[in-house]
Amino acid sequence: MDITLVQGDITEQRVDAVVNAANSSLMGGGGVDGAIHRAGGPEILRECRRLRDTSHPDGLPAGDAVATTAGRMPATWVIHTVGPVYSASEDRSSTLASCYRRSLEVAEELNAAVVAFPAVSAGVYGWPMDSAADIAVRSTLAFSPASSNTLSEVRFVLFSRDAYEAFARALEPNSGPA
Ligand code: ADP
Repeated sequence: MDITLVQGDITEQRVDAVVNAANSSLMGGGGVDGAIHRAGGPEILRECRRLRDTSHPDGLPAGDAVATTAGRMPATWVIHTVGPVYSASEDRSSTLASCYRRSLEVAEELNAAVVAFPAVSAGVYGWPMDSAADIAVRSTLAFSPASSNTLSEVRFVLFSRDAYEAFARALEPNSGPA
């Protein structure tokens, strides 16, 4: 499984699954969530509503992930995950790591080969970018596919130059010869 970095807009990625930094309500929000719903169109919200009406009446807890269509985006699926809000007084790293692990498990269930992630929790939820990048890279490297092993690429799609550079630094210790 390759880890790649791109600076750009996740809604434009031609991948099997795009991960959304959603909120627990699954009813849409700002940041990357708003961009994904705008780009994908109303079908995504329709499926989110159906999830609320059936399997997730209380919404999606932080650290978990669930899939819908990607609507009109070039991707096939959106995997919605809910990051933890950053707290300086409480260590919520394991919840953020769980976002990546659960999203990759869902991707595997979908037989997805290429999955794109944004920097979950590093926007409105306030997680410092260097730490968010470190947790993203480490939890992805730690993920061992359970069964089918269809995953071939995890692509981090970073909106800003700063975010891209933080992820590049987080990858550095692992970028030596294979
Ligand atoms: P959270 O609430 O989990 O912090 P945000 O959407 O506020 O989620 O931010 C997560 C990250 O996604 C931020 O680094 C933000 O700059 C980035 N982001 C916002 N829009 C896009 C986009 N279209 N593509 C990729 N990343 C995006």
